[in-house]
Amino acid sequence: MYNIQGYFEVESVNEATALLAAAPHLLVIAGGTDVLIKMHHGQIEKAELLSIRKIKSLQGVVKLEDGTILIGSLTTFTQIANDPVIKENIPVLAEAALTMGGPQIRNVATIGGNICNGATSADSASTLFALDARLKLQSNQGERVVPIQEFYLGPGKVDLKPGELLTQIIISPENYRGYGGHYIKFSMRKAMDIATLGVAVICKVKQGNILEDVRIGLGVAGPTPLRCPEAEAFARGKTISPETIAEIGKLAVKATQARTSWRASKEYREHLVEELTQRALKAAIVKAGGEAIA
Ligand SMILES: Cc1cc2nc3c(=O)[nH]c(=O)nc-3n(C[C@H](O)[C@H](O)[C@H](O)COP(=O)(O)OP(=O)(O)OC[C@H]3O[C@@H](n4cnc5c(N)ncnc54)[C@H](O)[C@@H]3O)c2cc1C
Repeated sequence: MYNIQGYFEVESVNEATALLAAAPHLLVIAGGTDVLIKMHHGQIEKAELLSIRKIKSLQGVVKLEDGTILIGSLTTFTQIANDPVIKENIPVLAEAALTMGGPQIRNVATIGGNICNGATSADSASTLFALDARLKLQSNQGERVVPIQEFYLGPGKVDLKPGELLTQIIISPENYRGYGGHYIKFSMRKAMDIATLGVAVICKVKQGNILEDVRIGLGVAGPTPLRCPEAEAFARGKTISPETIAEIGKLAVKATQARTSWRASKEYREHLVEELTQRALKAAIVKAGGEAIA
């Protein structure tokens, strides 16, 4: 059932990257909520596992003096949902974290595993796309930082080079300060279900009724999470009105490459994008200090 051929545990990033450099076939395991399910289902037939779970430096959230927020890749969804820095500065990410799995899964599943798994349905991804998050990757050759939009290459495929670990998710102050945000996960069941569609909208409002900036992150609207550049460009500087919001919803559909699956047809997903983008935007406007629109 679980054909685990070997198991290694490390307590530091340097130990992990040294081991990965010497044995690149090792499969990194964090919370294991994707890896072990894949092994159980035979999608991974046999593996030698490298557990990074005990690396303390990758756990938790820090806010630097300049306002940059650093989220350790091993931070669990429960920790994200309860973390005071996240709740105060980017509450939309705490809300998104709470839509993920159930309490048991959230207690072990990590945000780093959610990203590295490469699923378009990842509940953290659309919000992190909207926040223009950057990812710090480390190997025994050194470090590099990549925008999350460039990290997702295709379904289940990410830009993780052999021997690399995701260590931190970086959110710069200009990408959250003054923004209000809202995440909607649409799924068949209220709990323990993968998203049929995920929509994260963050926005900045000036003078109570002008959209200064709008960012829309979508999950399950294409092979990877994505942003909606045309809708975002249209929104900038517009007066808030039902007509503007309706047009933003319509334009958001243009960025999608939805497909039919057993969960929903392409057409239904496109309908969800148009409708849920509007709903998430309306909620985000209020959270950003703007006027409520019916
Ligand atoms: C019952 C159940 C319900 C679920 N519900 C949801 C849901 O509602 N929403 C959702 O988005 N997901 C859901 N998932 C999927 C899963 O829980 C998440 O994707 C989770 O965040 C994965 O994190 P993990 O730490 O368990 O990853 P792991 O299983 O440990 O790893 C996942 C992948 O990432 C790699 N990896 C992990 N950490 C790193 C790192 N730091 N550096 C490099 N590579 C790394 C691993 O090698 C592996 O390929 C669910 C899973 C289960 C079993």
